[in-house]
Amino acid sequence: SRHLSSSSSSFTPMAMGRVPLGLKRKGLRVVVTGGAGFVGSHLVDRLLARGDSVIVVDNLFTGRKENILHHTTNPNFEMIRHDVVEPILLEVDQIYHLACPASPVHYKHNPVKTIKTNVVGTLNMLGLAKRVGARFLLTSTSEVYGDPLQHPQTEAYWGNVNPIGVRSCYDEGKRTAETLTMDYHRGANLEVRIARIFNTYGPRMCIDDGRVVSNFVAQALRKEPLTVYGDGKQTRSFQYVSDLVEGLMKLMEGEHVGPFNLGNPGEFTMLELAKVVQDTIDPNARIEFRANTADDPHKRKPDISRAKELLGWEPKVSLQNGLPLMVQDFRNRIFGDHKANANAG
Ligand code: NAD
Ligand code: UDP
Ligand code: UDP
Repeated sequence: SRHLSSSSSSFTPMAMGRVPLGLKRKGLRVVVTGGAGFVGSHLVDRLLARGDSVIVVDNLFTGRKENILHHTTNPNFEMIRHDVVEPILLEVDQIYHLACPASPVHYKHNPVKTIKTNVVGTLNMLGLAKRVGARFLLTSTSEVYGDPLQHPQTEAYWGNVNPIGVRSCYDEGKRTAETLTMDYHRGANLEVRIARIFNTYGPRMCIDDGRVVSNFVAQALRKEPLTVYGDGKQTRSFQYVSDLVEGLMKLMEGEHVGPFNLGNPGEFTMLELAKVVQDTIDPNARIEFRANTADDPHKRKPDISRAKELLGWEPKVSLQNGLPLMVQDFRNRIFGDHKANANAG
């Protein structure tokens, strides 16, 4: 028999029925799994602002209550502390499925749990979407391309992924999640959307999550050396979080399944990123080289032609403009407002 979360009855079921595309809709009921996390909390802000009812389903593994605290008195907002690896019953119109640790440090911490979250968690959310006829959006990742042999990466590229490495729990987990999503689409006629997200940064990132932008920013603010792994010549493309949220919502509302690359095509080596951080925070910040981690992809840059053409989407915020917005947030959280002001000068 199915185990169902006791919290599943906390949402009053309403008359179901999918609203046809193109009709003006008011007050969609939207689930955001992982909504207490970095990307999810920004998405929740936008959904509530446009008048939707939002249920966040999050086990707070890497998410923080602080990210959604400003909504707790909003009657259109609800947070359920729940692990997506367990089934749950809800009545909703759309599901944004983000629940999964995203930082390599976090997803390697308990790799089997990461796989369960990606596979069983995604299966449960697809089963839920099927039962209520909700539209389902998966946040996949550029990691499905592995250490890519094609550059930049288009969605047609199948990737170069190590199935038995330390990153595989995430890379292969997300690849399986994509497979499940397409099988529910083909087999159960489910309305699905797949986003392949490239490295994203912005306010509310976990300060010590080990990702490169959060590391460099926190290190520069704390007057610690910037830790560049390997020779620092590997590349990534950094997207500001508001651009991503815009892309996710356009994808959900549009009529195309995808997959769609959502990322900023600006490509930086880690040494170039360190330079931007120095220019933004502290020109005297020192650089310290460290051994790189296993299976680190050498380069990554999205080809976003498909999203441009079919979703009418492209990023608007450059790294030089986005970084200061994140720095302000990190300053406040690391030093507290009082000291932040003292340091701002
Ligand atoms: P995050 O770690 O800040 O957020 C993930 C959220 O999921 C957290 O709130 C966490 O508590 C929750 N969560 C994790 N496991 C869960 C479980 N089993 N049950 C319920 N909740 C669970 O990460 P993020 O950067 O906001 O990433 C969000 C999504 O976007 C993830 O699926 C990630 O794979 C994807 N993504 C992010 C990036 C990026 O650069 N930020 C890049 C590619 C893909
Ligand atoms: N599921 C869920 N909530 C629902 C419906 C299904 O969590 O509202 C879970 C269910 O427990 C199962 C998974 O989603 O583990 C897949 O459900 P589906 O009905 O597609 O498959 P089945 O239950 O037949 O294996
Ligand atoms: N990296 C680095 N210094 C750090 C953290 C990461 O040079 O303090 C490098 C890492 O080796 C990788 C790149 O930055 O080449 C991006 O790493 P991140 O963990 O942010 O994301 P992902 O590897 O998932 O793209």
